[in-house]
Amino acid sequence: MNIRENLIALQKEIPPDIKMVAVSKTKPLADIETLYGCGHKIFGENKVQELTSKYENLPKDIEWHMIGHLQSNKVKYIAPFVSMVHAVDSLKLLKTINKEAQKNNRVIPCLFQLYIAKEESKFGLSFDEIMKIIESESFNSMKHVQISGLMGMATFTDDKDLVRTEFQYLASCFKKLKERHFIDSDNFKELSMGMSGDYKVAIEEGATIIRIGSTIFGERNYHN
Ligand SMILES: *Cc1c(COP(=O)(O)O)cnc(C)c1O
Repeated sequence: MNIRENLIALQKEIPPDIKMVAVSKTKPLADIETLYGCGHKIFGENKVQELTSKYENLPKDIEWHMIGHLQSNKVKYIAPFVSMVHAVDSLKLLKTINKEAQKNNRVIPCLFQLYIAKEESKFGLSFDEIMKIIESESFNSMKHVQISGLMGMATFTDDKDLVRTEFQYLASCFKKLKERHFIDSDNFKELSMGMSGDYKVAIEEGATIIRIGSTIFGERNYHN
């Protein structure tokens, strides 16, 4: 596995206006430093403790994305530095992010995670649940979170047609929300979808952010 070569190969396939989050979960600091040395500065982690420890031990101009399920009681550890939270899946979590961002004098960009997969194990909200949050009383008073768009994970399958259908659904929900609630918000513009196995389909269906792990860093030594 040559991380630099993997990055160069990947960059040839990704349009320049698409943001690529390098998913470094389970990978050592040295791997991140290698990619950083190639000029890549956007990384994603899915566990708070690992994210915090990597943040503390690596250059401070890295943009860290929290891409995994986030528990409200752990928000305080990442609020001082996290660049984006990809998987907001409850009003309670959003309120907590808002509160902790305020304590740090920050505004934290957040994505709602929309449930799109035909699998039991994935976290996320339905479209109606997102609407409920947006229409809730407390929503407009949260000045320290910035709703930047949607994130989703397709079913883990070789069936590209199914994956495409799921991404199309995510993109259509994004469009509906944009038109109904965020037409005046320039910040509501991100569609985080696509991983190593399905980023090409995701880009074709309108992704603005893709999250790539194993294609850059190699397979992980665990199942998650
Ligand atoms: C692990 C992970 C990825 C990257 O997965 P790869 O298949 O290794 O590219 C992307 N998004 C989330 C939410 C993840 O947990």
